[in-house]
Formats: sequence, C-alpha cells, structure tokens
Amino acid sequence: MVRHGPTMSTESGIVVVGAGPTGLTLACELHSRGIPCRTIAEAGGPTTVTRALGMFTRSLEVLEDFGAAEEAIARGQRLEIVNIYGDRRRIGGFHAASLTGTRHPVILALPQSETELLLEERLELLGGSVERETTLRELRQSPGDTTVRLALSTPHGDETVEARWVVGADGAHSTVRKSLGIEFAGEATRDVFVIVDAMLDDGPATGEVHYYFSRDGIMVISPLPDGSYRIAAGMSGFIGDGSPVSASAVQEILDRRVGRGTRLRELRDAGWGAAQVRPHTRLADRFRSGRCLLAGDAGHVYSPIGGQGMNGGIQDAHNLAWKLGLVATNKASESLLDSYAHERRAVAQRSLRLTATQMRMGRMRSRVGLALRNGLVTGMSRAGMLDRYMAPESVMLKISYSENPGVSAGGWRGRQGDRIPDLPLTGDGKDSQTLFDVIRGHPLTVLALAVKQEDSGRVDELAKRAFVRYDGLVPIHKVAIVKDSHAAAPSAPLIDCGGRLHRHLRAKEASLCLVRADGHIAYFDSLTASASLFAYLDAVLHVNDSSSVNDSPVAGKAT
Ligand SMILES: Cc1cc2nc3c(=O)[nH]c(=O)nc-3n(C[C@H](O)[C@H](O)[C@H](O)COP(=O)(O)OP(=O)(O)OC[C@H]3O[C@@H](n4cnc5c(N)ncnc54)[C@H](O)[C@@H]3O)c2cc1C
Repeated sequence: MVRHGPTMSTESGIVVVGAGPTGLTLACELHSRGIPCRTIAEAGGPTTVTRALGMFTRSLEVLEDFGAAEEAIARGQRLEIVNIYGDRRRIGGFHAASLTGTRHPVILALPQSETELLLEERLELLGGSVERETTLRELRQSPGDTTVRLALSTPHGDETVEARWVVGADGAHSTVRKSLGIEFAGEATRDVFVIVDAMLDDGPATGEVHYYFSRDGIMVISPLPDGSYRIAAGMSGFIGDGSPVSASAVQEILDRRVGRGTRLRELRDAGWGAAQVRPHTRLADRFRSGRCLLAGDAGHVYSPIGGQGMNGGIQDAHNLAWKLGLVATNKASESLLDSYAHERRAVAQRSLRLTATQMRMGRMRSRVGLALRNGLVTGMSRAGMLDRYMAPESVMLKISYSENPGVSAGGWRGRQGDRIPDLPLTGDGKDSQTLFDVIRGHPLTVLALAVKQEDSGRVDELAKRAFVRYDGLVPIHKVAIVKDSHAAAPSAPLIDCGGRLHRHLRAKEASLCLVRADGHIAYFDSLTASASLFAYLDAVLHVNDSSSVNDSPVAGKAT
C-alpha cells in the first residue's frame, strides 16, 4: 500500500461491495475456495432487522458448501408443511419431507439478522472479514481498462482502490449499478403489504407455513424461531406510504382471513415498525459490465411474498463464486462470467413472472375463478402433485440453466442445465458421503457412469489426461451401480446404491456427466464421445501449456 497525500491508494483482486446475504455468501464461497477478496459494507454491522425470513432448501445446500448449513438449522425454526387456504378453509398443501435428492428436505425460518450474523462469523472462520463503515462513493471503469477504480470512504479516511474485479452486492440502491449506468427498470407493485412480526394467541400451527388466499389479497403467516409470527398481507385498501399499522387493523386482517380464533397479543418491533409498504419489482438491464458484476438486490427486487429476494441473492453468489474464482486466478477466460450474467438474469426474470402469478392468484375475485383455483389446489394436493412438483419448485431445487447454450453441451438430450440431485455416492471409505461431497472444492467434476470392466482402463486414461491438461481442476470419478447395500463391492471407487443417479440421468450405457461446482450439469454424453467433452472443457478452461498435443484426447488416439 502506498499513500498519496490524504487519500490512500491500494490495489485489490476482487472487491465485494456489500455484506448482506448476497455479499457474505459470495465472500464465504470465495474464501472457502482459497480465493481472497475484500468485502466492504457501509453498514456498521449485520442488519438488526428480521427482513427475509424463509431460507429455502437450495440456499441451505449453498450454505452447506462452506460448512454453515448445520448452524443455520440449529438457529432457525424448521418449517415442515406449507398449508394453502382459500377463504379460510385449508384447500391443500405440501410437505418438505417429500423433497428428495437433497440433504436438507426442510424450509427454514431464520431472520435475516441471524443469517447475516452467522455468515459473517463463518467468513471469519474461513479467514475473511468485512470492512465495516466503508462506503463506495464512486466507481469508474473505462472500456479496455484492466482495473476498476473505486473511491471509498473508510473509518481511516478516503481510499482509492484499483480492483481487478468488482461485485456489486450493495442492495436495491446499488452505487455500483448506478455508477455503471445500468438501467433498473420496473415499478411499484399494485399490491400494498402490511408486514409485521407479532405474538399471537392460538396462532396457526408452528413448524408450518400458512398461505391464505382471500378476496382481500394473499397473506402469509410464518412462525419465527422465538415463538412470534411474521404476517405479510397483500392489501387493496391501504395507502402504502410506510405509515404505522395499528394492532386493531392487524386483528381485523386476521379475523377476515384466518378466522376469529387467532388473537393478536403484541406487535413486535421488527425494525421497520408495524408498517404498510408498497414493494417494487425491478430488474437490471445487465448483470455484467466489463469487470463489474451485479448480484442480489442490486440486480433484482421482488415482492416479498415468494421469498425470492434473499434466496435469489444467495444463489447468484453460488453461481458466480466458482466462475469468478477461475477467471480471477487466470484459469478460465473472462467469457465464463457472461454465463453468470445470462443464467442468473434469466432466473430473475422467471422469478418476477412467478411472483406476479402468485399475486394474481391471491387477488382473484370472480366466483368461477375462485372455484377453479381452490378445486385445482385441492385436487393436486390430494393426488400428491403439490408434493411432487410444487415443493421442489418452491424451494428452488428446480432452477435450470438449460436455456443457456453454454450448458446444453453433449450429444445426448439429457438433463443439461438442471441441478443434479444430491444422492448418496458412498465409497472412498465414506459411507455417508453424497454427490455434493464428491464435487465440493472442484470447479468442475466428471462422473463416469455405467462404466463396464472393459471401459475402466479408458476412463483411467482420460482422468490422467484431464489431470495434466487442466492442472488437477477436473477430477474424473467412476460411479458404479450396486443393487443394494449387501451386494458385492464393485471395482469403481464410488457406488450409486440402487442406481438412483443412473436412473435420474438415464445413463444406460457408459457415459460422462460434467457437473459444475454449483451442482448444475454442464455436459452429458457417451464415453465414446470423450473428445467433445475435452473440446467443451478447452473452451471453458485455460489448457496447461505443458500438456503436449499427444496428451490431448481431441488430437490423440482416444478420439
Ligand atoms: C420487510 C422485508 C421482508 C422481506 N422478506 C423476505 C423473505 O421472506 N424472503 C426473501 O428471500 N427476501 C425477503 N426480503 C428481501 C431481502 O431482505 C433482500 O432480498 C435481501 O436483503 C437482499 O440481500 P442483498 O445482500 O442482495 O442486499 P442487502 O441485504 O440490501 O445488502 C446490501 C449491503 O450493501 C451495503 N451497501 C449498500 N450501499 C453501499 C455502498 N455504497 N458502499 C458499501 N456498502 C454498501 C449495505 O451496508 C449492505 O451490507 C424482504 C425484505 C424486506 C424489506
């Protein structure tokens, strides 16, 4: 560091602006991969406001990546059932326990204040920290520049930073986004929300979430870990200016939508007062501009009903971390970051559509529409379809990047772009190991499936080549099926007991499945097409110069 006059000048690799759930997740992910970053935040500490409450299964899987999931579950309230009511009558629901292919079949109620606290604690355990009371004032980037110039004010004075990469995780009013001149188009929602935390007498069952459709609008009641409840009610008759809402007004909402049994004992101060708010829905035009990327609320904001905001930000970070890690350490070309911008903006667009549909369903008034909606929910619930389809969709296990041409690789039409299920893959001396344990720590992992004895040597040869060519970044594992746990151990190091993974991937013959660090499938094809796998990897990763042409399966005999 060199001082120039009153302003300190520094250089940095990656700067993460913002330490909300998005910035903290990204910082934890990067540090857990051995990639240091500077994390700065204007706020003096983690938020003290409950704000986002619902942490979805997919977000718990992200936290699992850097060892924070168990702690989150210990501090939160498990929500096992999602109940849906139409005009005060339960019309259906789904069960978190029905979720398969995940280590965390649960939805968690954890106030954002707790989430940020535990993420910051985890970041410190991983060797990082947040520089608090440090505000980004201005950001400058010119075309062709290899750095971005940041003007910060810190508790020690002003500082100018030349950063190689900047991630704007600085919330809805993002200075990063504004400095880059990126549009944030959208509008205030039609619905006003009353959002309060309250103590209730005879409240709805704890350990469950409750969605109420009524002619007045949609409402969610979710228990908090301290025994209180979050009530978020879409309203038609309120003004939406943030002014306080009285206890009697909340009681009236409960009477109309839940029934007369539930009594409001006390309105809690959730940090924003007992308020009515008119949320905005907005989407940034681009998530990448040169060396700057946007993540979380800086790129998208939703109505609070669907729980998309915080969970979406956590998953932005998950998608970005391994890519930025590779690019920042010069192991992959910058274009990999375009796939982040493409994939996550498309997900944000879908989330905006989803929340708009939920709001419309909540607002429905016509008799025919209501009867149809209620009948549909009841029918699907009884047939187990809400468990099978709505549950994984709601907790974000079904997010797919299949529309991104960058992940629809491989000759077979398979599940490219989808999240791979986290199924048990025992072996390597570890009985409780799952697929996510196998891929953790590697940007890309190849699973060689349905490999017969005669193909085994060929896979070993490919693994050696991949090791040299990509500097050990892409391990190749053989995965064999055994019918049940008593069957004789196969020669492959990893065991797909009962063949669930093979069935899911429809791997009937020897095949290669490339899985990304964020658990999405990038490529799937026959073992005989290994050349195209290596061509795909060559396009993503920088190839080790010392790997000779003969080491290349594209040029070598193996092709
Ligand atoms: C009442 C309410 C209820 C909600 N309920 C839910 C819910 O149930 N589920 C859900 O998923 N979402 C919910 N949300 C939305 C959720 O809170 C946000 O989506 C989430 O906080 C986004 O996280 P983030 O890290 O992207 O941004 P933020 O949490 O806004 O964090 C921004 C960070 O950037 C820092 N920062 C800002 N400007 C600067 C600057 N110039 N320089 C340096 N640092 C800066 C801030 O200090 C902060 O650390 C709710 C929101 C509200 C208000």
